[in-house]
Amino acid sequence: MSENTGTLTSHLWSSSDLYRNAVLELQEAAETMKLDPNIASRLQVPKRAMIVSVPIRLDNGSIRVFEGYRVQHNMTLGPGKGGIRFHPEVNLSEVAGLAMLMTFKCSLVGLPLGGAKGGVRVDPNQLSRQEAQALTRRYTTEINMIIGPDKDIPAPDIGTDAQHMAWMMDTYSQEKGFAIPGVVTGKPIEIGGSLGRAESTGRGVVYTIQHAAKHLKDTGKPGPKMDGSTTVAVHGFGKVGAVAALEIHQLGTKVVAISDVHGGLYNKNGLNIPDILSFMGKNRTFVGYPEAEAITNEELLATPVDILIPAAIDGVITAENVGRVKATIIAEGANGPITLPALKQLEERGCFIIPDILCNAGGVIVSYFEWVQGIQNFFWSEREVNAKLAEVMENAFKKVIDVRSHYNCGMKTAALIAGVDRLNRAMLLRGLFP
Ligand code: NAD
Repeated sequence: MSENTGTLTSHLWSSSDLYRNAVLELQEAAETMKLDPNIASRLQVPKRAMIVSVPIRLDNGSIRVFEGYRVQHNMTLGPGKGGIRFHPEVNLSEVAGLAMLMTFKCSLVGLPLGGAKGGVRVDPNQLSRQEAQALTRRYTTEINMIIGPDKDIPAPDIGTDAQHMAWMMDTYSQEKGFAIPGVVTGKPIEIGGSLGRAESTGRGVVYTIQHAAKHLKDTGKPGPKMDGSTTVAVHGFGKVGAVAALEIHQLGTKVVAISDVHGGLYNKNGLNIPDILSFMGKNRTFVGYPEAEAITNEELLATPVDILIPAAIDGVITAENVGRVKATIIAEGANGPITLPALKQLEERGCFIIPDILCNAGGVIVSYFEWVQGIQNFFWSEREVNAKLAEVMENAFKKVIDVRSHYNCGMKTAALIAGVDRLNRAMLLRGLFP
């Protein structure tokens, strides 16, 4: 048998940019930290993946079959944890890449959880509420044998929310015969959700930005003051981006640009985020909001701001547009929004990157709190949730800064090393079965 060189050979996993990017970043971290090559090769591929067909009856009476996935990347530290994405471009490789990021994220922030991810290849905007419910329930049934409170615990991601989690929890519980809230997180409060979960990812993004601004100040580097002189642009105004925009607006900084898949808004004097959210409450969109000009997503990315928060999808800052990006801090609210070549250019330029597995970890941290509260049937106040979230995020931020100065590497590599290091020790201790 020839020696395993750790080279990624399977096209099955590596067909998406997101997966390839995640592996290249892992390889760079592995080289920098001199990771045991046997561990490195195991981490490049997921432990287990399931592809399911999800047939549902549409409102017009016809039957349509969607493709669904659940990938468990690594479960050394505990049950799998990761969101469910409903998006027309979801595929096995992308889900595998996202599951890999979840492994390193959970490890970095010290959770007793492994990395997983799921998805259905569907445009959720084309589904009626009834069709969305049927799709969610049938998908849950199809992946039923690999999820559970002790096995793998889904949560919301792009295109899914607390209502989808309620349907998943109900479907799983119906099959078992009693209520099992711990099978998913990001549930509505009424059925065992946690206070502060809905806001946790966006809130965590803002905590890391505050730490970054303080770090730059403490180390004598130019950085934002986090007051009315600081400008921010938010790409993707969804569950993560809208909360981050609101929280950072409430700190007194100026959010000058926001966008969603259809386009964006700009006001050089700062957008009134609470007012935009109430406009959206009435109109379901911010299109037509009077106190701003319309801009495109590309214009948003090129807006001269201090802080850019990409909080939509992966691969938005690329070698092609990175030259136009002017922000001094980029907070990766989304998973994988910066491609590797673009990252190198930004780092060379001195841009401070807050890596996704650190920046958006607030969601999985409070998901973990939700899971713990559910197991104990003992629920915490929102103040307690937020205080614990802030503490975990601060420790993780400090850990990444320490690793960065130890290895003299970029923030992205440092975050991965911090995540991989804990996992590496656990994998070596557990050994290889059989
Ligand atoms: P969401 O569906 O609530 O919001 C996504 C937003 O991005 C929407 O405003 C959408 O219109 C916009 N968008 C989609 N495609 C776009 C494009 N091509 N250009 C510009 N805007 C676009 O999703 P979310 O839960 O906010 O997730 C956003 C990102 O954050 C994803 O990468 C997700 O994996 C990551 N994330 C989410 C959580 C969470 O708790 N929801 C946790 C960690 C990471």
